[in-house]
Amino acid sequence: MARQLRLVLLGKQGAGKGTQSVRLAAHYSVAHVATGDMFRSQAAQGTAFGLEAKRFMDEGELVPDEIVIGVIEECTAPGGPLGDGFVLDGFPRTVNQACELDRVLAGAPLDLAIDLEVPTDIVLDRIAGRRVCESCQRNYHVNSAPTHDWTCDTCGGRVRQRDDDTEEAVFRRLELYEQETRPILDYYRARQMLTSVDGVGEGDEVFERLVKVIDEHLSA
Ligand code: ADP
Repeated sequence: MARQLRLVLLGKQGAGKGTQSVRLAAHYSVAHVATGDMFRSQAAQGTAFGLEAKRFMDEGELVPDEIVIGVIEECTAPGGPLGDGFVLDGFPRTVNQACELDRVLAGAPLDLAIDLEVPTDIVLDRIAGRRVCESCQRNYHVNSAPTHDWTCDTCGGRVRQRDDDTEEAVFRRLELYEQETRPILDYYRARQMLTSVDGVGEGDEVFERLVKVIDEHLSA
């Protein structure tokens, strides 16, 4: 059997990484691994690790590298979500994390890193209307709400605004994106692993663009 897709999806907060990576993972039958979702779910369960991560998240700060890298390392254990094919969303977020990812995936490296490009004024608009299911993390928008009274269409969980989608935390996250995450684009570009995809437009349209780029890459 052909080896499964191993993809990193990069982009600003609100670029659509969460929504598109869930769809891509289903399309290519691989795991969806989102560090932000993992931290939120641990925080909702009240674990010590989740509550520690939440302190950073609510301020819009990055969770320290040693914590995040430890989590990713656990995911690469045999049978873990990064053991075979995956779409990775929210990791890496610093050049150090990108190096560490290469290290832990040494035997089976990434196929591709995609930068989902969306201008800042559009992401700000999207984040202001973003609502998320507390249970399964599905994303909604005030303009495309769940069918019944902010109850998730997928799992029945409560759909609400994220604690870190306050104006202050969003500005801090975008600032950190420029300082810490944008340099990762050069890291992958230098290794001929980077492709950019226009993330502006309807979700279905963006999804088709992504699939086209990935399929071209896989058949090259
Ligand atoms: P967004 O992309 O909108 O910031 P995420 O759900 O990806 O949303 O991440 C939410 C928060 O989780 C981040 O602001 C950060 O505090 C923490 N986080 C997620 N992934 C990482 C990571 N790779 N490194 C450090 N912190 C992270």
